[in-house]
Amino acid sequence: MKISESFRSHFIREVLIPLVLVLLIIFTAATFTVWWATAKTNRDAAHQQQQIIETSLTQSLTEMIKQNRSLALWQPLGRRLDRALQDTPWLNQNVGTWLSTMFGHQLIYILDEEDRPVYRWEWDKNVPVAQFEHLRQPINELSARLKTPFASGGHAEAIDFTLIDKRPAALAISIIDDGYGGSGRFRLVSVKYLDASYLNSLSQRSLLHDLYYADGKPMKTGANYLLKNHLGDALGYISWRPAAPGTQMFQVIGPVGLAMVLIITLICGVMIRRLWLSSLKLSQSLLQLSASEAQAQHLAFHDVLTGLPNRALVEERLTQALGKLNRSPEHVALLLLDLDRFKQVNDTYGHHAGDELIIDVGHRLSQEVREADTVGRLGGDEFVVIVEGITAFSDIQKLCERIIASLARPFTLLGSETWIGVSIGVAMAPQDASDRLEMMRKADIALYEAKSQGRGQYRVFDNSMDEQVKTRQLIAADLRAALQNKRDLAVYYQPLMDISGQQVVGLEALMRWHHPQRGVISPGEFIPLAEEMGLIIQIGEWVLREACRVSLAWPDISMAINVSPLQFRSAGFVERFKAIVQQEKTLPSRIELEITEGVLIEDEKGAQEIMRALREAGFRIALDDFGTGYSSLNYLSHFSVDKIKIDRSFTQSLGVTENSTAIIESVVRLGQAMGLTVTAEGVETNSQMAALAEAGCNELQGYLFSQAVSEQEIAALLAPDKAS
Ligand code: GH3
Ligand code: MG
Repeated sequence: MKISESFRSHFIREVLIPLVLVLLIIFTAATFTVWWATAKTNRDAAHQQQQIIETSLTQSLTEMIKQNRSLALWQPLGRRLDRALQDTPWLNQNVGTWLSTMFGHQLIYILDEEDRPVYRWEWDKNVPVAQFEHLRQPINELSARLKTPFASGGHAEAIDFTLIDKRPAALAISIIDDGYGGSGRFRLVSVKYLDASYLNSLSQRSLLHDLYYADGKPMKTGANYLLKNHLGDALGYISWRPAAPGTQMFQVIGPVGLAMVLIITLICGVMIRRLWLSSLKLSQSLLQLSASEAQAQHLAFHDVLTGLPNRALVEERLTQALGKLNRSPEHVALLLLDLDRFKQVNDTYGHHAGDELIIDVGHRLSQEVREADTVGRLGGDEFVVIVEGITAFSDIQKLCERIIASLARPFTLLGSETWIGVSIGVAMAPQDASDRLEMMRKADIALYEAKSQGRGQYRVFDNSMDEQVKTRQLIAADLRAALQNKRDLAVYYQPLMDISGQQVVGLEALMRWHHPQRGVISPGEFIPLAEEMGLIIQIGEWVLREACRVSLAWPDISMAINVSPLQFRSAGFVERFKAIVQQEKTLPSRIELEITEGVLIEDEKGAQEIMRALREAGFRIALDDFGTGYSSLNYLSHFSVDKIKIDRSFTQSLGVTENSTAIIESVVRLGQAMGLTVTAEGVETNSQMAALAEAGCNELQGYLFSQAVSEQEIAALLAPDKAS
């Protein structure tokens, strides 16, 4: 879950936190806007209510003064006032009752010019005129505002709020008309307390609720209007329950807003969850993609079978190692390895077991090198080791020896032990080469050398090898040309003599190549080349044709030709040989095919098949170089041949090495017991001939009688034979 942890923190950092922040900002902004709108609406409403109450109070004063005026300007009152003072019922009816019942004035007075009350109505009845000191001061203060001074006789009026007996009240004073259009000497004074009914009617007028008067402090929770008189003296507060439309609006939109917040949060939550899941999926697919990319990358640079670096990676590592050489005095070694006779493992145990062995070889190689060294597989049974930082050449020699020893240990395949070997070619940088291709080429040359010198060993490149390779390449090109033009190539014939050395009983066809510049090149040199170049089949068939043609002239003499292992195993070999013999109008029984143990070693069953087919066709078979291989005698029991040819080394050891006569004798005895002809090769002296005759050999071949000679020379040699 390591991946998911890093993905989670990435997701939280890149998606969740920014989204939550955006949501918080939006919600905070929305909350602030609602709060601000609510507060502003409330504030505006409060301001408006202040104006309404002020207007309502002004209106109520205006109405009250008008009510007073209606009486003050009523001429019958002015005219009758002097008289009427004694007519209290009249005044009760027209002043007291009128103002109190019609307009709700509570205290009503008529004062004379000396401020003495001449008529008094309080609440709902006339009361005896008495001192009214408690009204004196407010009346005096208000009287000072009368427009027309009382003394001037003009009528005027004034109204204001004031405190009477510490109670707030509206106080109105009007000069009563004298009844003839002039200002009288009486004043009408009336008072309305700001009591419950006053505030009630004010409430109806202003549409403000729960109005009440507070003389002390303003109400904390409600709205307050500071009641003042015209001089600006504070009289107390009128308080009310304020209408708060903002709050009302908030109460309506608040829950809706909250629901919206919840819904948006929920939707965002769902979206985040979906985003999380799809991002997770995406990241997983990306991970899979990068994993498969990494896998593809690995496959591109590693061998599928062994998991070792493949050719591409080996080449890259080698280039890198060589690149570092400029900066360091150390050396780089390239070891090219090829398993010896690996095909046999495939043939014996099958391809699958061969694969197992290749894997095991990879493991063993990896164990022999240091961590920093590269072991790679180039393909087939070819491996490579790159060693860097070499200070002593002996280290490389030791490494090669270790590898050879390690791979020489048995491998277990399909439950049984098998052995394999390895040949190694080594190239060193910078002394041999400093570029990759040259290193590979030189290591390959050294490997070729190790192989051709018997396998199971290592060879370090040196310049003479390069020369040899170049020479070989030149010779190969010339050989191809010579074969194409049938020029410089010839078949020579060496006679096989009867045991007396007098009679030619057979001929062995041998190739000769007269190179125009290099002189005679021996078959030992160019036949392996021809095998490598795939020319051996063509050459072999050409030799057969020549031999057939020549043998026609000597019907009593057998004709032997050499068959290379490659030729022997090539598809359709028997059929082609039969066809050639037929085309050349001779008989297979006239032809002896000389094969070496090499033919038999690799695929015993196949070889037996081919030999059986050859013998059925009539060819005779001779086992050449007998005694040089590992178990020549053993082959005799498995393969049916007609002749054995004792190798020249045995002949030449006669009289030189102890037991040589005994060895030859036992071979001859064995051959004769099996009904085989025994030929000794390489007879050069008469004493050898004598010893071989003594041992019981049937035929002799060697320089004592003749080298391989041309067709014409053989004709000359055979002529006396023919004559005799
Ligand atoms: P030599 O000593 O000359 O090297 O002989 P050899 O038998 O090892 O032959 P060579 O190296 O020329 O050829 C290697 C053989 O390995 C050829 C092929 O049959 C076999 N081979 C190539 N690739 C594979 C593979 O992937 N698996 C198996 N089992 N065999 C392979
Ligand atoms: Mg090999």
